[in-house]
Amino acid sequence: SSWWNHVEPAPKDPILGVTEAFLTDPSPHKVNVGVGAYRDDNGKPVVLECVREAERIIAGNKNMEYLPMGGSMHMVEETLKLAYGENSDLIKDKKIAAIQALSGTGACRVFADFQKRFKPDSHIYIPVPTWSNHHNIWRDAQVPQQTFRYYHPETKGLDFASLMEDLKNAPSGSFFLLHACAHNPTGVDPTEEQWKEISQQMKVKGHFPFFDMAYQGFASGDPERDAKAIRIFLEDGHLIGCAQSYAKNMGLYGQRVGCLSLVCDDDKQAIAVKSQLQQIARPMYSNPPVHGALVVSTVLSDPNLKNLWLKEVKGMADRIIGMRTALRENLENLGSPLSWEHITNQIGMFCYSGMTPEQVDRLTSEYHIYMTRNGRISMAGVTTGNVGYLANAIHEVTK
Ligand code: PMP
Repeated sequence: SSWWNHVEPAPKDPILGVTEAFLTDPSPHKVNVGVGAYRDDNGKPVVLECVREAERIIAGNKNMEYLPMGGSMHMVEETLKLAYGENSDLIKDKKIAAIQALSGTGACRVFADFQKRFKPDSHIYIPVPTWSNHHNIWRDAQVPQQTFRYYHPETKGLDFASLMEDLKNAPSGSFFLLHACAHNPTGVDPTEEQWKEISQQMKVKGHFPFFDMAYQGFASGDPERDAKAIRIFLEDGHLIGCAQSYAKNMGLYGQRVGCLSLVCDDDKQAIAVKSQLQQIARPMYSNPPVHGALVVSTVLSDPNLKNLWLKEVKGMADRIIGMRTALRENLENLGSPLSWEHITNQIGMFCYSGMTPEQVDRLTSEYHIYMTRNGRISMAGVTTGNVGYLANAIHEVTK
């Protein structure tokens, strides 16, 4: 007998498990469209040139001291400008409480803990479906979860009427988790007009909007455009919360660099809230890692590097948008009688294909194509070289 006899293996993570299976498959044809990480047209991971240049600038001339509990304020300042706007009065008036976070996941988790601590009776409303880790995050923070309707399986688009109904029927002052752009896993975002209505309804009900913004710039290719939903809410006077990540839009996945921010009534409240966010970080990880934060602040505070970054983000978004068109065209050219319009209507890293778990199983067993069983295709894994093979396989299993 030992201390841990009672410990059973944890269930596999539905997303990370896919990559594990992919890696053990010896087939030369294998394709990984499971994990949400950008690949170039040769299927290779990418380090942005602006990041390489920032690293050359940093190399050898920075110490490795701890950052403060709240992280790099230089990085945080630049990051707030992206979400709230270069000339945001909220930033000028110091109304935003913000800390560096361990990428988007860490930002969501610190917020969930903050919510539990200071609004102990509140729930979080989560869209159906959502990134599976959202459920884990709020579960581990012990915030009870409710859901709201979001995706319409028949249209493979937004179920706007049901979403609005659920906003209306939730008790006043409820917390809502919103994907700021490039909704994961569906690739379905509200239009600007719809965001305006959502914002209005949430205003009427006094709901709290928490934006998870993991893909700013990655959706449309323009970070300003991808911040539109947030800007609409700010114009309406919402005091929002926001999780930002540099995993996708700067390719800093493993560096774990992001930001959590909460808009407060005034600068005094912002100081109090920030000190409490730090208090949550302290026993969890003490302070965040320094390298990624230095890379980000170096890129964003140098006008040339920032321009290069903007060009490179657009390059990634454009390649993905191009692959959507190619995948749809290939399916149509194969004579598929099904509609594949949603592939090009959806936006961001993912295409929610509408394939059933059984069809996905056949893709994997017969064609060595790896993806999550909910039918989510990571468009970032699609290349000029494999799009034909992928389209043919999808056509065969959906006949
Ligand atoms: N939120 C959403 C919706 C995501 O898709 C992701 C990345 N898969 C994240 C947050 C967080 O990713 P990270 O912690 O790597 O920034």
